[in-house]
Amino acid sequence: MTGWDSELDRVLGAKTAKALNGAFGMTTAGDLLRHYPRRYAERGELTPIGGLEIGEHATVLARVERVSKRKMRSRKGTILQARITDGTRSMSCTFFNQAWRERELLPGRRGMFAGKVTAYRSELQLAHPEYQLFTEEDSDEQGAAREFASALIPVYPASQGVPSWSLARCVDQVLSGWDGVVDPLPESLRERIGVLGLDAALRRIHQPEDLAQVEQAKYRLKWDEALGVQLSLAQSREQRGARPAPACPPRQDGLAAAFEAELPFTLTAGQLEVGERIAEDLAHEHPMNRLVQGEVGSGKTVVALRAMLQVIDSGRQAAMLAPTEVLAAQHARSLRELLGEFSGAGELGASDRATKVTLLTGSLSAAQRKQALLDAASGSAGIVVGTHALIQDGVSFADLGMVVVDEQHRFGVEQRDALRVRAGERSCPHLLVMTATPIPRTVAMTVFGDLRTSALRELPNGRSPIGTTVVPTAEKPSWLERAWQRVREEVEAGHQVYVVCSRVGDESGSGARENTSGEDGEQRSPVTVLELAEELGAGPLEGLRLGVLHGRLASEDKDSVMRSFAAGEIDVLVATTVVEVGVDVPNATMMVIMDADRFGTSQLHQLRGRVGRGASPGLCLLVSEAVSQTPARNRLEAVASTTDGFELARLDLQQRREGDVLGAAQSGKKSTLRVLSLVHDEELIAEARAEAEEFVRQDPELSSHPGLAAMVAELVAEERAEFLEKA
Ligand code: ADP
Ligand code: MG
Repeated sequence: MTGWDSELDRVLGAKTAKALNGAFGMTTAGDLLRHYPRRYAERGELTPIGGLEIGEHATVLARVERVSKRKMRSRKGTILQARITDGTRSMSCTFFNQAWRERELLPGRRGMFAGKVTAYRSELQLAHPEYQLFTEEDSDEQGAAREFASALIPVYPASQGVPSWSLARCVDQVLSGWDGVVDPLPESLRERIGVLGLDAALRRIHQPEDLAQVEQAKYRLKWDEALGVQLSLAQSREQRGARPAPACPPRQDGLAAAFEAELPFTLTAGQLEVGERIAEDLAHEHPMNRLVQGEVGSGKTVVALRAMLQVIDSGRQAAMLAPTEVLAAQHARSLRELLGEFSGAGELGASDRATKVTLLTGSLSAAQRKQALLDAASGSAGIVVGTHALIQDGVSFADLGMVVVDEQHRFGVEQRDALRVRAGERSCPHLLVMTATPIPRTVAMTVFGDLRTSALRELPNGRSPIGTTVVPTAEKPSWLERAWQRVREEVEAGHQVYVVCSRVGDESGSGARENTSGEDGEQRSPVTVLELAEELGAGPLEGLRLGVLHGRLASEDKDSVMRSFAAGEIDVLVATTVVEVGVDVPNATMMVIMDADRFGTSQLHQLRGRVGRGASPGLCLLVSEAVSQTPARNRLEAVASTTDGFELARLDLQQRREGDVLGAAQSGKKSTLRVLSLVHDEELIAEARAEAEEFVRQDPELSSHPGLAAMVAELVAEERAEFLEKA
């Protein structure tokens, strides 16, 4: 009598349950059945030993080649060494004082061997090996032998002490007394989408007869995962959409209209279209939840500004949040610039319709801060720009109608909610999220599934193309010299240059290494901002005006460096990725990215978007020691070969693991997505989204589908636990 919630110690005994709990945190039969095999091996097949990775806990199907025994030199006892082979390569398993194993580890016998893969003098070994030998092969009974030969062996993610075959045995024990579960998916849905029942799927994923059964089982289990996430998102959209929000219909005679009449450029078709969507959203009595994605330079700021002006025209305020103080300050500057006579209300020369843009950050003086707080609270500031602390610190507004979050795609659903749902307030401001990282559709549907998305796909005319070249220092060391020479030429032509490093330098051992890609443990440590600035100043770039910018500078220093760079007082800015988002200096035409292989594909694309913002063409050099034909190098070549951000985002997704994409508090907990892949299951996710939307539309609480409601509840509980952990 075993069901989903049966305690493992009752089903399997205390000792086994304790081992499973220690290794995987499992407590119930359901937990165990959700621990799916990683792959399946055929009984006759041997695992290619050459494909093992050092450091991994591996389960290897192999044949015993030979066994040798010798006395230990330093201590009493014997060492038994078994060589196992896949037919081509071999590796060794060492046992101390277990000479008796010689009797069963006979040459020619096959079995599964598990342990941590280590290397000793270019020879692979399994440390603390555990093994299980196959006996069936010796069977003379043809029928039995054939049956076994066709059976697939599930290979589970295992750990020291709990090898794959022990997991298989536990699963077997659970399934043999299995009572069955109530399928959470309504039968009509199962028929419509053509999936197995949950019981059948669980049996087949663990004990398949062939790979076709595995595929059927996976398809069903993927549906569970996709549907759970999509139902939860659909509910959150529904709940959020049901809240009251300040309706801000567009006005013909307001500030927004006056601003547009004076705009020095024509809006692109994309800007107009997205603008229209937003204008409609804002006019409703329910909150807007929209994500606008657009490449760097696609003109998101003016889109956000038009929305904010519409809100101001209804007598309310807008807050604009940036991830850093540097960016907040820059946003405030560019909003004021764009607004021209329409900013600085009350100041000389301002239009009488003008509003006020107030910057509210931690680096203000006490007096400035007091004034800014007053502007926000009195309503005299139509637009308040700051970092996320603005909301988290509970700054009070006279009437906050909209929140714009810029360049913050690493935010989770819960965090987005926390931004808007302020204690004691019933009404909820409109939300506009802007990101420069193109987001593949599957990610948009999951990570940002609570938002409606729109995209700016074209760049305003007049933007210059960016040329990107890889500088492979391992093969062509002289190219680096040439690169610095090129920097000089750029400066002599009156332009400015960024040099980006992955580390600041001078770390006091605080684990500050942020971007290690770790493809090769032997890699030299990356060039740092501080070292490189010194080196360049004393050598290749001697005589140029160098500046240094990184996250460890005090924020007033950061701001002043950025200001000098913007004013053209610095020729070359050596910086970390603080320049990644939002920084806008049109005269900067060249960027050199050191140790470029340490950055992600999308991040490189973002970074290079900083140059070529003016009329002169941009140039980006990706300096790397990565050797030709390695994954790291291929990634760089891909970035160099295209400027299509969506294409690169897809590549990025393929190269990263799902967990990294989803991140914290974003349905990304391992336990949530086990079989569903954001890379491969786009169609299924889209279908699940449509189904979920329909279920929730008909029955927002899912009260007539307790199974579905339970799926969501489980997911939300996991997410909440994760969120609290991180908070
Ligand atoms: P991003 O999407 O990277 O935030 P910005 O909003 O900073 O881009 O816009 C980049 C530059 O392009 C700014 O200087 C902005 O004033 C200008 N810009 C925006 N829209 C247009 C347009 N339709 N035509 C010409 N220039 C534009
Ligand atoms: Mg921007």
